[in-house]
Amino acid sequence: MNRRASANCRYQPTCYEHAANFYTHAGMALLHRLSDTRWERFTAWVYGMGLCGLFLVSTVFHIITWKKSHMRSMEHCFHMCDRVVIYFFIAASYTPWLNLRELSPLAAHMRWFVWLMAAAGTIYVFSYHEKYKLVELAFYLTMGFFPASAVTSMSNTDGVHELAWGGLIYCLGVLFFKSDGVIPFAHAIWHVFVALAAAVHYYAIWKYLYTAPGVDSLLNS
Ligand SMILES: [Zn+2]
Repeated sequence: MNRRASANCRYQPTCYEHAANFYTHAGMALLHRLSDTRWERFTAWVYGMGLCGLFLVSTVFHIITWKKSHMRSMEHCFHMCDRVVIYFFIAASYTPWLNLRELSPLAAHMRWFVWLMAAAGTIYVFSYHEKYKLVELAFYLTMGFFPASAVTSMSNTDGVHELAWGGLIYCLGVLFFKSDGVIPFAHAIWHVFVALAAAVHYYAIWKYLYTAPGVDSLLNS
């Protein structure tokens, strides 16, 4: 059951991922167009790169493991990249909230701290890839939840519910991510959860940070 599931599930996500790759590019372009300031444009770009990076690296990794499993070293390399890109994706997902919302002086430090955490995660992956899986999971959860402490200090809390819902969907997805070989197609289901959660977060960023009325009129008045 274990081998069959993993052999079958690798095909499915890649089709969806091709679509996801396209939509993330389109989504990035839309936020870029909605930007009124350089800072907003820069933030849209960072967030868009995080989204595109995640789906692109994941697609390439799954295609390589499925089609070219004889290329062991290359597969190993892309597996590490697949893990590294998650850290940067989490940092990128928080960036619009940290960059475009007013934060307390202490919480504002989270803007650069998330990237420091992503860099630390990268060093960890390249040093101890797949050695301590529980430590790795703890790292991901810390990276996923710790920046939320800054978000809760925002004076304007519009969109925080969507942010929390997205986070919850990611957490439910992790249950499947950790159920490889227990639940058939677990990894493919994990991908669906990731796509769903990312869509919820994108919607919140689009709605509350890029199209919410009054932000610019307040700044200009
Ligand atoms: Zn995957």
